[in-house]
Amino acid sequence: MSGGDMAKPLLGHQNTERDPSIMPAAGRTIGVLGSGDFARSLTIRLVCSGFKVVVGSRNPKRKAGLFPSAAEVTFQAEAVKKTDVIFVAVFREHYSTLCDLADVLAGKILVDVSNNTEINHHKESNAEYLASLFPACTVVKGFNVVSAWTLQSGARDGNKQVPICSNNQEAKRTVAEIAQVMGFTPVDMGCMSSACEIENIPLRLLPAWKIPIFLALGLFLCFFTYNLVRQVIHPYIREQKNKFYKIPVEVVNTTLPCVAYVMLSLVYLPGVLAACSQLYYGTKYRRFPDWLDQWLQHRKQIGLLSFFCAALHAVYSLCLPMRRSHRYQLIETAIKQAVEKKMNIWVEEEVWRMEIYISVGIIALGLLSLLAITSLPSIANSLNWREFSFIQSTLGFIALVISTLHTLTYGWSRAFDENQYKFYLPPTYTLTLLVPCTVILAKVVFSLPCIRQRLLRIRRGWEKGRYVKFVLPSATGEYSSGETSSNV
Ligand code: NAP
Repeated sequence: MSGGDMAKPLLGHQNTERDPSIMPAAGRTIGVLGSGDFARSLTIRLVCSGFKVVVGSRNPKRKAGLFPSAAEVTFQAEAVKKTDVIFVAVFREHYSTLCDLADVLAGKILVDVSNNTEINHHKESNAEYLASLFPACTVVKGFNVVSAWTLQSGARDGNKQVPICSNNQEAKRTVAEIAQVMGFTPVDMGCMSSACEIENIPLRLLPAWKIPIFLALGLFLCFFTYNLVRQVIHPYIREQKNKFYKIPVEVVNTTLPCVAYVMLSLVYLPGVLAACSQLYYGTKYRRFPDWLDQWLQHRKQIGLLSFFCAALHAVYSLCLPMRRSHRYQLIETAIKQAVEKKMNIWVEEEVWRMEIYISVGIIALGLLSLLAITSLPSIANSLNWREFSFIQSTLGFIALVISTLHTLTYGWSRAFDENQYKFYLPPTYTLTLLVPCTVILAKVVFSLPCIRQRLLRIRRGWEKGRYVKFVLPSATGEYSSGETSSNV
């Protein structure tokens, strides 16, 4: 199923041209088989959306009290007779127990809302299995991505997409209309062969986050080990000093900003690589390698994880003075100074360094929060493309520059102090500067007029070695082939 199909709303203008004899969605009677959690929430939502609902249960007397009084709760066969559209809110394992209803169900639309417990659990999807049990019915797969809780919380809780598929266009459209009246956005997933894909949607665990999370964990592990060696192992081996108490707070707090900073630069690095590729090949119609494509698609998640680490770093830093170790060290220093009769401990350079360091850090965190907030779909949808790209691209790059200043003011002259090279290992901040500075440098180079102009021309369709200035879209309005760079 192509991305284009996914984006295609089920309800288009063609609905207005439908057969007038077909009953409008709201006001029609909908059947629900089953009286469990899903059936109850679905009934409440359907009643609230203006539908008449008839619930079919094996034990209507006992279950009637659980449903709103506006809904009729009756035996399964009775319920099925009263409606043409029936939601089957029963687990797949119990479908076969409905076979006695085959005659009364004939010719009706069955909506399969079921989910599995594992991805690709059965050979055929639940919806296809239901269709095989009831060949005289039209089966539509849908609503399985919506939880009973979401159904109850109603349309106020944000709009939610409901992927729908069926081999029957008219049945699919009817169910899509019902979904829309209920406040959901139906998404056409095509014919019944997509049912398996729809059933797997609620079972996937953060598919878009896997790579960014592994990346963040990998970076965390590397920097944590590096900092552990420098801050704990080195003093233990060289001076027999026990600094292991530093592990839970100090070492973690020096690791988090490293991860946040490098992750932020990794949001902008694939854009730089993509631009390099376009400049090198002199075209935007050449596909990027798969790894770069994947990387470009994960930038949002990488950015959000960078913000998460930066926010944790801010909280850890605020808590540093609360630690016992900090208090003891403070008192120790004060006693030492009193013994040595030192009255003036003010170091002007250190004072300025710290003031700038904190201020720049706060600004960087503020910008990262803005980037994170605007990446939320509800906020992103309220921005036009220029606003979105200004915030994510321009402000994001400014956040990277300010984070670099934050890192540099932290490091100050430490890179030139040989005592900082524990086991000949340079201070951690010098390592973190590597990727971000490369990105900043590349961006500066790309902003030079000669390169900027060439890149702009390439992104408008100009190609190296071709005499036509611009590639015109075809009659269908689409470019013939290749990867476009609109998201770079
Ligand atoms: P449930 O609370 O266990 O309800 C299942 C209902 O199935 C029972 O209340 C029962 O109603 C009916 N049923 C019919 N024949 C049955 C039989 N032979 N044995 C046992 N029960 C039978 O389950 P649920 O959470 O509502 O889920 C129902 C369906 O919705 C499942 O396919 C599930 O995958 C899907 N779903 C649920 C959710 C959710 O959030 N709960 C979300 C998405 C999809 P009677 O006793 O009145 O006949």
